[in-house]
Amino acid sequence: MATSVVVIGAGVSGLTTAVCLAESGLDVRVDTDLPPDATTSTSAGAMWDPYLVEPGDVVERWSWVTLSELTELSTDADLRDTGVRMVEGTQECRVPCAMPPWGPMAGARRCAQDELRPGYAAGWRYRAPLVDMPRYVQYLVGRLTAAGGRLRRHHHDTLDAAVREAPVVVNCSGVGARSLAADPEVEAVRGQLVVVENPGIRTFFCDDTPGAEELTYIYPHPDALVLGGTADRGNWDLRPDPAAAEAIIRRCAAVEPSIAAARVMEHRVGLRPARTTVRLTQERRDGTLLLHNYGHGGAGITLSWGCAREITERVHKALAEESTAPWITP
Ligand SMILES: Cc1cc2nc3c(=O)[nH]c(=O)nc-3n(C[C@H](O)[C@H](O)[C@H](O)COP(=O)(O)OP(=O)(O)OC[C@H]3O[C@@H](n4cnc5c(N)ncnc54)[C@H](O)[C@@H]3O)c2cc1C
Repeated sequence: MATSVVVIGAGVSGLTTAVCLAESGLDVRVDTDLPPDATTSTSAGAMWDPYLVEPGDVVERWSWVTLSELTELSTDADLRDTGVRMVEGTQECRVPCAMPPWGPMAGARRCAQDELRPGYAAGWRYRAPLVDMPRYVQYLVGRLTAAGGRLRRHHHDTLDAAVREAPVVVNCSGVGARSLAADPEVEAVRGQLVVVENPGIRTFFCDDTPGAEELTYIYPHPDALVLGGTADRGNWDLRPDPAAAEAIIRRCAAVEPSIAAARVMEHRVGLRPARTTVRLTQERRDGTLLLHNYGHGGAGITLSWGCAREITERVHKALAEESTAPWITP
């Protein structure tokens, strides 16, 4: 059977899109120049949190769809290991500030003054999906394979060449879109994390002070804590910076002192694909339906299911409108 859809990219955007397309009955191949466990997606924190991404109205819709899907995966009835868990915690600000617009969506409530950590003036408490990304990416690969999809290690030099490979091509290339789609709007925002042994912390914490120069967050997994972070615009260096790691541990230990003595397990670095707005568009190129799904900044996991479902709807709508598309396996 000829491949109906090629998805470029095996990060969270590409894999989730491929899962949705394959489960909708299409024959899907994912082409990726990095293995899934070496992508930015695998290095992410990763909480459901619409951070560093625009435009607001569609981001809200995509975030909501993803929140529902991830919540469902966290209570998976088959007890498959998805890597998704619901975790309670707080976002707190050092200055008085309003709850973010997505607060009600997540069921957030404003913290009483005595719930806040020393030095914090405002905050909100909620439960949200926390994703163990190395595990979740493997779950997505397994789900794609179960739906008949497959992966190929392959670098695409140009989209003009890629569109010759299938009647539908979806570009989910993250920061790679800067060269692949010749899109100068795509910029890397480098992020670094430290993973340490969990000394017994069960709730998440995130400093959300507006304009703060440094990021501070603590994401608890059963055996590990993911500590963040950094956000360096225009920096494409994937090597961990020891000084940044030390500073991350110092900031997190100022919030939770038990972190100071925790054993370091791993350093992670990834490149957030920042763009003025997410690019979720479609065009025709040499007769092929070419869709773009990239530029998710610091919220690729948060938007993944919303964007993937929208791409899938767009593909099926285009196919339904084209009675001259016998090349597509229904
Ligand atoms: C430190 C850090 C913490 C983060 N925390 C969170 C969080 O808590 N919540 C959240 O929602 N988001 C978070 N993010 C953001 C999130 O990780 C990204 O938005 C998301 O991973 C982007 O996914 P993607 O699939 O679009 O890109 P990627 O994961 O970068 O995948 C791109 C894929 O495209 C492939 N590719 C690129 N170019 C080509 C080419 N020419 N040919 C073939 N293949 C190609 C690559 O090999 C790769 O498979 C974080 C990011 C970082 C760095």
